[in-house]
Amino acid sequence: MQYRRCGKSGLKLPAISLGLWHNFGHVNVFSNSKDLIYTAFNNGITHFDLANNYGPPPGSAEEVFGKIIASDFRNYRDEMIISSKAGYTMWDGPYGDWGSKKYLVSSLDQSLKRMKLDYVDIFYHHRPDPETPLEETMAALSLMVQQGKALYVGISNYEALEAEKAIHILKEMGTSCLIHQPRYSMFDRWVENGLLDVLENEGVGCIPFSPLAQGMLTDKYLNGIPADSRVATSGVFLKESNITAENIQIISRLNEVAKSRGQKLAHMALSWILKDKRITSVLIGASKSEQITDSIKALNNIEFSTEEITLIDQILKG
Ligand code: NDP
Repeated sequence: MQYRRCGKSGLKLPAISLGLWHNFGHVNVFSNSKDLIYTAFNNGITHFDLANNYGPPPGSAEEVFGKIIASDFRNYRDEMIISSKAGYTMWDGPYGDWGSKKYLVSSLDQSLKRMKLDYVDIFYHHRPDPETPLEETMAALSLMVQQGKALYVGISNYEALEAEKAIHILKEMGTSCLIHQPRYSMFDRWVENGLLDVLENEGVGCIPFSPLAQGMLTDKYLNGIPADSRVATSGVFLKESNITAENIQIISRLNEVAKSRGQKLAHMALSWILKDKRITSVLIGASKSEQITDSIKALNNIEFSTEEITLIDQILKG
């Protein structure tokens, strides 16, 4: 595994991190979830990303993870970077959503109980809140660091200008913003229009989520929808309607470029993000442990020629 410095902080993260959005809920097979954590950690993936609402049901991914850590990884806590977040709907009433201090502080306390941890390494505000003053949300993050409940804090899904503002407010409070977690893949390149520049200027790391576009940027949907795929088993966030003929045509052409580089498309999709030095880590999901060992192979080739970049850009334009 390669480890990359997170912005200008003292912390290094693995180039590939594991997210627990899917496949760790109470609805999933516990032995498989455990297998995924073992496979990741045994292959140098030291960073595990959670959120209060991951499941289903919401909260259950933290419970499952907490059970695994307590029983099998207690002695390895200092070798792990564990994150959580709050910002989406979690409980009823006006205090279980968005970005108030009341919600964020209560939510982190709940997450620590579910995961049976004394602290998280990174706590994120999960999405910007248009109604709560940014100062209040950032003060809540800063408080968590002062209380020792989070070692570092970050933001997720913030656009370039609001990210810059949040980073500055935190700095004035004496707390550094460690990292930003945006969606970024060959299919969704919004971060290239300003956000990555802001993060570089401010010395903040970047950990893109859904780098495989939830599995679309692999060869799995080229010949239909496999029964064990996210579209077939969950179908909530990635739907059959996303697997359009137009997308398949693009995926198929990208697959040929990957082959010419001696890679599978999943590898190329990850290495295409990691070619940018501003990226700290790519945050993958996995339903099977073999996908983790497979995705790590992306690190064997993260260099792209100018011709390859141009060709990929052309293909993505459709
Ligand atoms: P990906 O884009 O990596 O998609 C993961 C899915 O791709 C897997 O479940 C699997 O799908 C398929 N897959 C993974 N590796 C391979 C492989 N080598 N070959 C073939 N198929 C593969 O990421 P996710 O969408 O899962 O998101 C990753 C993490 O990002 C989340 O767990 C979460 O931590 C974070 N996230 C953060 C958000 C935020 O708002 N901050 C929002 C969303 C995610 P299949 O099930 O079909 O096998």
